[in-house]
Amino acid sequence: MQKSILILGASGQIGTELTFALREKYGNDRVIASDIREGGDELMASGPFELLDATNYDAMEDVVVHYEIEEIYLMAAMLSATAEKFPMRAWSLNMNSLFNVLNLAKEQKINKLFWPSSIAVFGPNTQKENTPQSAIMEPSTVYGISKQSGERWCSYYYNKYGVDVRSVRYPGLISWKTLPGGGTTDYAVEIFHKAVAGVGYSCFLNPDTKLPMMFMDDAIRATIDLMESNAVNINIRSSYNLAAMSFTPAEIAKSIQKQIPGFRITYNPDFRQAIADSWPNSIDDSCATKDWGWQPGFNLEKTTEEMLKNLRK
Ligand code: NAD
Repeated sequence: MQKSILILGASGQIGTELTFALREKYGNDRVIASDIREGGDELMASGPFELLDATNYDAMEDVVVHYEIEEIYLMAAMLSATAEKFPMRAWSLNMNSLFNVLNLAKEQKINKLFWPSSIAVFGPNTQKENTPQSAIMEPSTVYGISKQSGERWCSYYYNKYGVDVRSVRYPGLISWKTLPGGGTTDYAVEIFHKAVAGVGYSCFLNPDTKLPMMFMDDAIRATIDLMESNAVNINIRSSYNLAAMSFTPAEIAKSIQKQIPGFRITYNPDFRQAIADSWPNSIDDSCATKDWGWQPGFNLEKTTEEMLKNLRK
């Protein structure tokens, strides 16, 4: 029989597509989607869904027992831009949800878990270009502090209790199925929606702000590949650097203009500029390549093509 999987935060940008991908692989009924709010129509129609608060250990344990869950993917979190507005709520959600799944695994109620970290673990003192796996990590955002702490706890639970926890540091993710949820790289999704609607885009970052980014299909493939890798190959139990491409708002606008020549972008940086300035420009992901064969499939050109094609439908 196929294993049973629980996704927490399944209605969000990553959770939605991860649910589709895992359901295709393991069967609709084996993958339980859950969130504190219902997801899009396609998600809700595709298989079982539970309203579940990831900060509630007892409720989560009930669902795990009921569906005989073996693996959990924790996607519930408060993202970088929103977390700056609600620091204590962000810390409480991001840390308590992680402790809940780590403790479920420690109590051997589940076998394996995935928890995403972020390039936000790095800070203003980090080497900006080709940031190494173990670069200086002095994050200056609430979100980054929660991700860095999360990484240390994952590593601790692996070393101390043998918990099989796996993680990647996602860069900014670009997707068309679900809107992003309050991050600093959201501009790289919003811009495509405006371009397809035939209107201009006012960008909240400066034209030359270079950030690491990735198309969602790559992120989902990386996540599932890591979870399916043989445990002996996984040498990093905090979180793997992961990369695909890096670009600036001016470069993505230019890439869109190749297909929509009349598209116009203006720049009105807000508080998110400071967050972006504290993050790396590009990431060295050679450990992920060496340990579990990671290779990205989408560059900026291919991402632009996919985004415009699918949003036009
Ligand atoms: P999102 O905001 O789109 O989705 C998060 C989901 O969690 C939402 O559907 C929300 O309703 C749900 N949620 C909030 N509180 C909850 C609770 N108490 N219990 C259950 N569900 C709750 O976020 P996302 O972009 O899908 O991100 C998923 C994970 O990936 C997060 O850990 C995020 O930090 C990480 N990440 C995302 C990106 C990105 O670009 N999207 C980049 C780096 C890391």
